[in-house]
Amino acid sequence: MSPRKPTGGDSAACAGSSDHCPDCTQNGDMVTEPEQQRDMEEDEEEEEEEEEEEEEQKSSDEGFMGMTPLLQAHHAMEKMEEFVHKVWEGRWRVIPHDVLPDWLKDNDFLLHGHRPPMPSFRACFKSIFRIHTETGNIWTHLLGCLFFLCLGIFYMFRPNMSFVAPFQEKIVIGAFFLGAILCLSFSWLFHTVYCHSEGVSRVFSKLDYSGIAFLIMGSFVPWLYYSFYCSPQPCFIYLIVVCVLGLAAITVSQCDFFATPQYRGVRAGVFVGLGLSGVVPTLHFVISEGFLRATTMGQMGWLFLMATLYITGACLYALRIPERFFPGKCDIWFHSHQLFHILVVAGAFVHFHGVSNLQEFRYTAGAGCTEEGAL
Ligand SMILES: [Zn+2]
Repeated sequence: MSPRKPTGGDSAACAGSSDHCPDCTQNGDMVTEPEQQRDMEEDEEEEEEEEEEEEEQKSSDEGFMGMTPLLQAHHAMEKMEEFVHKVWEGRWRVIPHDVLPDWLKDNDFLLHGHRPPMPSFRACFKSIFRIHTETGNIWTHLLGCLFFLCLGIFYMFRPNMSFVAPFQEKIVIGAFFLGAILCLSFSWLFHTVYCHSEGVSRVFSKLDYSGIAFLIMGSFVPWLYYSFYCSPQPCFIYLIVVCVLGLAAITVSQCDFFATPQYRGVRAGVFVGLGLSGVVPTLHFVISEGFLRATTMGQMGWLFLMATLYITGACLYALRIPERFFPGKCDIWFHSHQLFHILVVAGAFVHFHGVSNLQEFRYTAGAGCTEEGAL
């Protein structure tokens, strides 16, 4: 993974001067008149700075020739760092989709408001606080991640007397929290550094997809544990099956083609398929418990709601709704990826609610099992 050179020559030009990129200024959301005034003042200051720098450069070049190769290399590195700092630290403007390099072109229904390539992690992280196409994607999962982190810490420190088997139960519920936190943190990190360079975006997109598989696998663990509390054998088999399928999804996510826009539908299908592998244990559970017990004590209603939220999110993501009907109108807010992120957080919370109800049922019922049934 080698960070690309700042190839965004056109983007950098866009970032520096508006006449190269009329869309940057015409996009009223982003550049206002006082900003233009400020830009002009900044340009004048920059010109003065450049003149001073040229003079400095002349004198430093004379000194540069007299340096040892090691000192010259050090000097060149410093100049490079200075360049990166100047160009990429906050002096960028959002750019339209059609001037993005190919590796940043993901959704052509989002016409404006994209970040240019910024080969500096500092600049990428600073962009969290700017308004662009990824702002909503970053914050939905950053806040979701903090929420599940707090909830997880709170849950893990609950007194042991609230559980039938505190150690085991905290491990299985911990698996859910781990999956949720990994998924959400890989996701907001990916959306933050996505514009860094082609190599970085590729690595983090693989982490992002793997995170979804971790969330699905982690969600199965406490649900199978409580639903098949009195039938450990099928519980164990289903757990193994979902882990194998999850690892297969992670393996597929490592292929470079998987992250390309053409495979959007395949990606949604792989993860929906992984989630839907839960249909088999669900049917097993409903048959052994009966519909009434399954929907009341078995929390099937919550499970169904969770599946609906995830599947709706995946469909919006795959079909790029609503932006396909309003190209250019959902560039910053309410585009499909943001809605998908919100539905993932909501689905994970609904799942947690169902699992914590199952845990409460187990606590009230005690550790004993009746002769029939899985629960
Ligand atoms: Zn995402």
